[in-house]
Formats: sequence, structure tokens, C-alpha cells
Amino acid sequence: MSRKCTGCGHCYFKKTRFVGSRGNPNAKLVIIGESPGNDELATGMPFTGPSGSILQKELDRHGLTEDDYYITNALQCLPIKFKTADQNKKHINAAVSVCRSRLMEEIEQAPRNMILCLGNAALAAVTGNYDHKITQVRGRLFKSDLSERGVIGTVHPAFLLRGGGGFTQKFRDDVAYAISLTKGVPAKKWNPPKYQVLDSIEDFKLLHELLKKDHDEYVGNLITSMGDWPYPTIDRSKIIVANDIETSGFRHRTDDILCSGISAHSDRVYIIPEELSYSQEFLDLYSDERYHFIWQNGKFDIKFLHRYGSEGAVVHDDTMLLSYVRNENRGIHDLDQIASDVLGAPPHKGILDKYLPNKKTSYRAVPRKLLHRYLAYDVSKTRGMFDHLYWDAYNDEENSKAYFD
Ligand code: URA
Repeated sequence: MSRKCTGCGHCYFKKTRFVGSRGNPNAKLVIIGESPGNDELATGMPFTGPSGSILQKELDRHGLTEDDYYITNALQCLPIKFKTADQNKKHINAAVSVCRSRLMEEIEQAPRNMILCLGNAALAAVTGNYDHKITQVRGRLFKSDLSERGVIGTVHPAFLLRGGGGFTQKFRDDVAYAISLTKGVPAKKWNPPKYQVLDSIEDFKLLHELLKKDHDEYVGNLITSMGDWPYPTIDRSKIIVANDIETSGFRHRTDDILCSGISAHSDRVYIIPEELSYSQEFLDLYSDERYHFIWQNGKFDIKFLHRYGSEGAVVHDDTMLLSYVRNENRGIHDLDQIASDVLGAPPHKGILDKYLPNKKTSYRAVPRKLLHRYLAYDVSKTRGMFDHLYWDAYNDEENSKAYFD
């Protein structure tokens, strides 16, 4: 579908034929590029050249059809190229401001849920802020009167082709996030959780009720916003809990569990202190079949639990493995890094630094109160990031095969 340019008649910037839009004009998801290239001028439709192939691959990967999106550009014609990047930027910004009213009209022709901006020009056109640098603000959810969930910017596919290949995964993540928001997935967020330390064996009796209540509330909210049970591979009757333990060292045969944390709601964590880690109740908790256990690199923790005597302890899902499936590059899969990428959460690892002068210093050196807080953050982040990693993997054919099969 092509849409008439309202400004072209007298627009100084009009240099070539204009290129309109494609997709469903009433779609909830609007995708905006910068300007047509030569391929688009030839076909008369946006994103039909090499950048279009990159974008289309992502849309297809998420099972979207032409009916699910509306694609247009900040500019409807190809602007003249200047010698310097600075001149080009000035020229494009001026063109964007002239073409903006036409873009607004296009966006406002139907109620929108999400606007995905590809590149600086598109983000400037939609937000009216020409100072944003897309490499710095990509992936951030901006509030907007133009769409219910807001606006997300990501790098332009042409940037990936011209030396920005290191941003490929980020581009894919941002597109996936925008699409997931249109499907009702909650926005990424993380707040430091409240946490409670169990006082006595008696508290284990209450723990199950608390976790069930937390789970019902957390998952209940997801069901309301997503319209269905959000985890197709997880038995609906299970209580989904994120877990982590802190230990005195890395040797599971000889080192001790200093504390363990469990959470069914990323805002609330229960901490089991060292003194209660030798109880039967503790061992039973990790073998309890009413739970669906999520860990971050759980194969490490589970060995400790097995040695302590919780033979049934299992890892049902693992956020580190989900992260590997998305991107197998090394060095980006520790919890703080994933939580920062996936939830936009600030890192918390550093709160222990003062007590850990070198890599060999045991976590025993950390005041227990602080270690409990650290653990609570770990567990809460694991619960929060699991959702986004899980849906990312589930909705992607290749990643889904790699992880779930
Ligand atoms: N780049 C864009 O920004 N838009 C198109 O339509 C094609 C390439």
C-alpha cells in the first residue's frame, strides 16, 4: 500500500519519487525506517532491499505476517548525500522535521500498540528528540501518546551491514522485545526485592503457602496481560520458583552452603540461612514435586544439594542455558550481565567486593546480612529474566529446538 505524501508538492527535500508504506495500515505494530534506498525506489515499497531482508527475517522468525505490522519511513524520498556525516545528519534532521506531520498522520490513522524505530532518524521523527544516539538508547521503552505500550528504538539494519555487525544480537533482541510487548508480555523491569530470612524449622511449613500465593499473583498477572498460560512447556499445576545458593567455595564435595534463596515472584525472596541447611525440611524442599525449579547455572548448585542429601533436586529450566541458546558468544552469560541485558537491571555483584580482596577469598568473609541481600537480588533477577529468556527461546524456531529438545 502506498500513501500519498502530503508535503511533497512544496518540499525542498523532495528529490526522488516517494515511497509509501507496506503491511496492514491498521496493525498494532508500526515499524519505521529512515528513508527508501534505490531498491525501494525501484519497487515503490519500503524495506525491499538488503535492509529489508534483515528486517523481514526477524519478523518471519516471530511468525508475523503482513497483517501484523505496518512498515513506513521517517522520510518518503531518498535524501541527497553530502560529503560529511555531519552535513548528512543536519540535512536528514531538517528533512525529518518537514516530513514529521505526514508520519504522525500515518501513525494516528489507527490505534497502535507499539512503535519500533529503526535508526536515529526514525526515533527522532517519532519522539521529536533529535539528540538521542540510537546505539545508546536502543532497547529502551519510551512512553508515547502515539501507542499504548510505547516506542522502542533499535539500530537500523543498514548499520549492521556497514560495519555494525556487533550489534546484530542487540537488534534481534530489540525487535523481539517490541514484538513481545505487542503480544502483551510485561515490560522489562527490575526493582530490588523484599526478602525474608527464615527463623526456624517451623517457617518451612509457611514457606509453601507463601510461595504458592506469590506464584498465583505473579503468574496470574501474566495470564491477564498475555491472555493465556504463559509457559507452554511447563505443567500448569506447578509452582514456578527461582533458586540460588551461596557457598563457601566451588568444591561441592567439601564446601558448605552458606544460604539459599527461593522466589516465586521477582519482588519477594525467601532466604534459608546456613543453620537451617542441614534440616530434613530443607532437603525435602528441593525434592518437592509441586515445584518447577529454575536456576542460573543450576548444575553447580544442584551438586551441593545432592551431597547434602536432597537426591531429588533437579534443574527444570536454566537461565544460563537459555542465554547461551540466544547467543553463544563467551563472556556475556553471568547473572548480572544477563539481567542487565534482559531486564535493564543495574549490576549488584560489586556489593561484595569490599570483602573479597581476591578470587580465592571465601564468601564466608562476607557479613551474612549482606550475603543474604546479595542472594535475594540474584534470585529475584533469575525469576524476572527467566520469563523474557523463556519466551525468546520458545518463540524462535531454531532456539526453541536447541533448548527444549
Ligand atoms: N532503509 C530504510 O530506512 N527504509 C527503507 O525503506 C529501506 C531501507
